[in-house]
Amino acid sequence: MLSISFAQQADYVDFKKLEATLGFVPDSSKIQGGVYLEFKILKKTDSVYLDAIDMDFKFFVQSDENIKLKNDGEKLWVKSDFEEGETYSVIFNYVAYPKKALYFLKREDAWQIWTQGQGKYTSNWLPSIDDVNDKIEFDLRVAFDKAYNVVVNGNLIGSEPVKDKEESLHVFDMQKPMSSYLVALVIGKYNKKTETSKSGIPLEYYCYPEDSLKVESTYRYSKQMFDFLEEEIGFAYPWQNYKQVPVHDFLYAGMENTSLTIFSDAFVVDSIGFNDKNYVNVNAHELAHQWFGDLVTAKSSKHHWLQEGFATYYALLSEREIFGDDYYYFKLYESVVELGRQDLSGNGTSLLNPKSSSLTFYQRGAWVLYALRNKVGDVVFKQAVKNYLEKYQLASVETSDFISEVERLYGRSLSTFVNLWIKQKAFPYDMAFAILKRQSTFINEFVQVDCEAKSSKCAEYLKYYVSDEAKAKVISQVPELVISNVFKNGLKVRQAIAKHVTKIPESLKSDYESLLNDKSYITIENALYNLWINFPLERSKYLFKTRNIVGFSDKNVRLLWLVLNLNTPYYEADNKQGLYDELVGYTNEKYNADLRINAFQYLDLIKACNEKCKSNLETAKSHHNWRLVKFAKQLSEQLEQKKN
Ligand SMILES: [Zn+2]
Repeated sequence: MLSISFAQQADYVDFKKLEATLGFVPDSSKIQGGVYLEFKILKKTDSVYLDAIDMDFKFFVQSDENIKLKNDGEKLWVKSDFEEGETYSVIFNYVAYPKKALYFLKREDAWQIWTQGQGKYTSNWLPSIDDVNDKIEFDLRVAFDKAYNVVVNGNLIGSEPVKDKEESLHVFDMQKPMSSYLVALVIGKYNKKTETSKSGIPLEYYCYPEDSLKVESTYRYSKQMFDFLEEEIGFAYPWQNYKQVPVHDFLYAGMENTSLTIFSDAFVVDSIGFNDKNYVNVNAHELAHQWFGDLVTAKSSKHHWLQEGFATYYALLSEREIFGDDYYYFKLYESVVELGRQDLSGNGTSLLNPKSSSLTFYQRGAWVLYALRNKVGDVVFKQAVKNYLEKYQLASVETSDFISEVERLYGRSLSTFVNLWIKQKAFPYDMAFAILKRQSTFINEFVQVDCEAKSSKCAEYLKYYVSDEAKAKVISQVPELVISNVFKNGLKVRQAIAKHVTKIPESLKSDYESLLNDKSYITIENALYNLWINFPLERSKYLFKTRNIVGFSDKNVRLLWLVLNLNTPYYEADNKQGLYDELVGYTNEKYNADLRINAFQYLDLIKACNEKCKSNLETAKSHHNWRLVKFAKQLSEQLEQKKN
């Protein structure tokens, strides 16, 4: 994400401040802005530039009439005889129709507009600097229909009506500089709940008005994790406030824009969904980035782990605070297994390889910190992290900057450690495993309980006390060992039963039926399907019992229910067309990508993708979400082939 020419510009100019006043015409995906830009010349030069993709400019030069502006479609060049040490400013207006990085979505006549800078480049909608190393103070003012909420980095210092328009102008203030990829805005219809951290930072939780009952379950533990991280990191949260906003069809799980995390609304869950896939991990991860990534930023992708490894590690520490030690060690164990598997398949890389997989950047990165702390001790580790943040705040960093801080306090060289854990290609699997086994009896037990080769012990494991994780493992390996008593376990074990016990003996029928009452949409989905298959005579009973359950935001239970119903001829026989229309309806572009993919898949499975479904599949091909696009292209190719 860094090219040489960008890095050179940072040597001779420092962009100080960029104030932009923005307006939108959503119907034509248009953004227009007025920009005030201030920069200081570090070395005499005749030109500096901002990245600006496909923009039209109207120029209003201010501070110096000798300054000329030139637009080449990729960059806005600012030309003059710039003198070293001098500060200059320019003002200009621009118009853009961004193809990426800023997205306009319409649902039920309401607009949602949101941005994604990292990997997409903010310069598609705001003239800025693609190079992460030049940090600028961005102050945005946004005018939009007054019925909407506008959320931007920094503090909202005021909103005022726009003359002769049904709009409000919202004025935001950032006090500190940031890399351009972290500039963000969200416009949409939201409710907001606010808490205050122990240290006095306002924490704002946004939610769609119709999701007011999901606010608590979605944002559960937010304040606890915020307070924990401030304490654990030992460096005060660096920004004025912290806002979290869910959006439709986000490109990733979440994005840590400075003081404004944007996340996928698939994580907006009710209290049942919370048990299956909650926002806690993503919440903690993006929050940790506010220090590691936003305050100190990796100079180049070679050092990407300084962002992702730290965010993953500190998220894990936050989760340990909530879910306990076993949870923590189990996550570390899972990543050791995955990293080992990656090496076996020949896809392992050095942590400093810019082309590393996410698994390497995130999980190996987190493991480096866990192993390092284990080596140098808590006191040295924590103080070194604190010193590192203090020294490099609002600047950019390399791996050696962090390691040197640790070495200074540790008093010894860490070069052997660095070679083994960071530089070399192979992940030190055996050593990682040894540390883990030393620290956790829970992991020892989990590893010992193994029924890959079935033994007489396996039935005993399910009877007596081993952890739920270990029981779930046994069930996945030998599902036929499940007897009535095993159903008396908790949610995780019962989830494993619903997943792996697909042939249900008559003797377990009533136990199995009780799974439909569990507080887990994964359990309910699997149990409904397996019961429907195993007991054809009872199908109406199962359908009746689950008729009002929707499931996650991708409606996992509802869609399965519709398909099973359509395949149960005698149940609700007079309403089949209505149910089929409902299923096809979910392929429409007014729904989230995940739901649409689910609906397309089911329609393909029952060979019932009609004209409406096919035309929705066509429109899906030009969606901004690459997963939906890839899926739509594949499915329509398959449908074509079947036709021929
Ligand atoms: Zn991250």
